[in-house]
Amino acid sequence: MSVNYAAGLSPYADKGVCGLPEVFDSPEELKAKVETLAQMIKESQYLVVHSGAGISTSAGVPDFRGPKGVWTLEEKGESPHFDTTFEDARPSLTHMALLGLQRAGYLKYLISQNVDGLHVRSGFPRDMLSELHGNMFVEECAKCGRQYVREKVIGVMGLKPTGRYCDVIRSRGLRACRGKLISTILDWEDALPDRDLNKADEASRRADLALTLGTSMQIKPSGDLPLLTKRKGGKVVIVNLQPTKHDKHAYLRIHGYTDEVMKQLMELLGLDIPKWEGPTVCESSITTSTADVKPPHGAVTPKKKVKIIKEERKREAVQLTQEGSVKEDTVSVKRERADSPVGDK
Ligand SMILES: [Zn+2]
Repeated sequence: MSVNYAAGLSPYADKGVCGLPEVFDSPEELKAKVETLAQMIKESQYLVVHSGAGISTSAGVPDFRGPKGVWTLEEKGESPHFDTTFEDARPSLTHMALLGLQRAGYLKYLISQNVDGLHVRSGFPRDMLSELHGNMFVEECAKCGRQYVREKVIGVMGLKPTGRYCDVIRSRGLRACRGKLISTILDWEDALPDRDLNKADEASRRADLALTLGTSMQIKPSGDLPLLTKRKGGKVVIVNLQPTKHDKHAYLRIHGYTDEVMKQLMELLGLDIPKWEGPTVCESSITTSTADVKPPHGAVTPKKKVKIIKEERKREAVQLTQEGSVKEDTVSVKRERADSPVGDK
């Protein structure tokens, strides 16, 4: 399937400001700004990153409002250029650096507007990630909420049925749920997914540092979430080439490619950027956070053993293969329904 997912959406008039000229900081200026950012990250207690299409352009996936963005070209009656398919797209340096920041304990939560699935395929833990506009590789049971991460794009958009059915076995007996699976990709008028939005809202309020990467923040409510951090006394740092809707709220504004900024940032923090070894789905951050937990004095009491086994189970990080040999139940996750909505939404 082509990466032109935009073609699958309904026509919509107000797509925001497109095609604004890009601004570039000089190399010296960029370096000084990234040094400031590194210091801010070291001092932060709760860093939240907001990512947009700008972090995937180097992976060959076009953005929307950049000079060659999907909507910018549409306004001119032209078609966007795609260098890849979603399945073939490799996570960018920025995607992998974010994984490194999470593993190092700096990054506490990641909020993305991207539907390209690259955060999930990079191995970023899904329990620390909100994908506010859906994911091309994820379908969800309309009945029980279970999500299935597939190796190929779902091929259907706008929360429509995919033609497949949920095979979760209900706890009581042997009957499968059989609920209809639907696409998780939002169309223009669709409401954002509750669970993802609630978690994003909560993390944004808790954050003392919001870092936005490659988004012009024009889409609501996703684009306004960093403002929650500022309202609670935190700071906002914006990395984007074009002007953004919230530049005036930024403590620091960096005009540079996200890959360049993240490369310098990781060096300054003394962190390695993890290597990508093919699409990987990691459901839980416990994978990394308990990796070096050892029982005290080498003794494992029966009680602790149970706990460790439970955690082992949660650790299922699944290596996807080209042949489609991954069992669906190992990459699916039951979607938690939030009891009460958080915030104004
Ligand atoms: Zn189901």
